[in-house]
Amino acid sequence: MSTTDGTAGVVLAERSALQPDAVEIFDTTLRDGSQLEGISLTVDDKLRIAEQLDQLGVHYIEGGWPGANPKDEEFFRRAPAELDLRASMLVAFGSTRRVKGKVDDDETLAHLVKASVSAVCIVGKCWDYHVTEALRTTLDEGVAMVADSVEFLRAAGLEVLFDAEHFFDGYKRNPEFSLRVLEAAAQRGAGTLVLCDTNGGSLPHEVEHIVGGIVRHFGDDVKIGVHLHDDTGCGVANALAGVRGGARHVQGTINGYGERTGNCNLSTIIPNLTLKMGVRTLPDDRLQLLTPVSHHIAELVNISPNPQAPYVGASAFAHKAGLHVSAIARRRDAYEHVSPDAVGNGTRFVVSELAGRSTLQLKAAELGLELGGKELGQVVESLKHLEHEGYHFEAADGSLELLMRRAGGWEQDWFAVESFRVITDELADEGFTTEATVKVHVGGERVIRTAEGNGPVNALDAALRMAIESRYPQLGRVHLTDFKVRVLDTSKGTGAVTRVLIDSTDGVRTWTTIGVSENIIEASWQALIDSIVYGLLHTAE
Ligand SMILES: [Zn+2]
Repeated sequence: MSTTDGTAGVVLAERSALQPDAVEIFDTTLRDGSQLEGISLTVDDKLRIAEQLDQLGVHYIEGGWPGANPKDEEFFRRAPAELDLRASMLVAFGSTRRVKGKVDDDETLAHLVKASVSAVCIVGKCWDYHVTEALRTTLDEGVAMVADSVEFLRAAGLEVLFDAEHFFDGYKRNPEFSLRVLEAAAQRGAGTLVLCDTNGGSLPHEVEHIVGGIVRHFGDDVKIGVHLHDDTGCGVANALAGVRGGARHVQGTINGYGERTGNCNLSTIIPNLTLKMGVRTLPDDRLQLLTPVSHHIAELVNISPNPQAPYVGASAFAHKAGLHVSAIARRRDAYEHVSPDAVGNGTRFVVSELAGRSTLQLKAAELGLELGGKELGQVVESLKHLEHEGYHFEAADGSLELLMRRAGGWEQDWFAVESFRVITDELADEGFTTEATVKVHVGGERVIRTAEGNGPVNALDAALRMAIESRYPQLGRVHLTDFKVRVLDTSKGTGAVTRVLIDSTDGVRTWTTIGVSENIIEASWQALIDSIVYGLLHTAE
């Protein structure tokens, strides 16, 4: 017998005996996620990310390690006044007391008590090898460090989650010791025991088996959680296995950020649990915020969203199938594993020179454009012609939309470019400097502006914005996130052609525009103008 989930029309996976009806989602993007190489968050970034997570409705937001560095200290100082959390509880992270130390003069524990939070998560060692080799102390002292610290924090009135470090590796080698540590934490009042695959080497069948054993051991006395890294490419699969084993608490990060290969990806595990296994995760109606929140956070951490990301990627529900395209349009549920609306994403038809009229018609419908047969024919012809010159509209939805609008007789009237000029100088002691001047007509005025930049595209972008932004202040939210250049061999053999792709965002929407020319500056300028025009078209004032 199978059951069907009402929201996405999915046949639910068969339940395991230990599987709970609901799990708590614990986000650690701000602590573990920020370990990813290349991420450096300011305190403001962290506050903005926390707001997004609260909107999404995760149960816990781990803010960082108070006292470990000035940034996290400032975050916990500012959070009570600047964050108005509605759905989520802020958690401070720390470790147990020092070896042979006392709880009442332990600095880490004191910082946790002073962090103005009502819940804390402390890490303690569950692998005997780490206790004897890293801490260089006895197993009894290893257990006492956990017991004393949990007791101290509980006495301070805090909810305590115990982060069982290296649990899976430890349990495989010396289950008796690992279990002793968990029991000590539970007895002293930790409400959640989070089993961590710190080195990330476990596989799903092991996780399900081990979590199942621990859940049976503790029964309903304590909540069992999982914290799983993606080193075997199984971070999400391991979390699913953990929930099948009875875990009622799942930790992870948005977009899977984290050190090495990353953490269990919440943007994937949340819809998997909700839509495929029928396990409640977020509050009602929040799942459709998943794609916008994932993209917004990508923007805040300054990493381009992965188009291939399950559920939330730009390509997650993209169809490029000439012959089948009308069937896809008629019966989307035959070609999509869930309804993209359920996670706030959408069906996208990918258009290339091979696209026939029917694909273009669907694309037009997707964009809300009404194009007649004649206009569609024109678009087919322009596509063939432009793709032959080196354009690639499959990768540039923003420019494609503008092209289709123009075929319908539309012209943008926000501004008209008269001319532009870019100068790059090499000065003896200052290195390279670049300056751009643009002349545009905007609102009946002729405006000339000059700006400097760290390169020609940057300088042109700055000058164009200076010329028109006072009239269109919404452009303040639009900026370029990526700039790709590719040199193509032309079939004509008259020399190389440059293709430029620019990714832009207004914080919610992202789009790609394209330019092609023998001159790299001209190609960049085309892509830049399309980016700004698209931004004006879609970014509300
Ligand atoms: Zn971790």
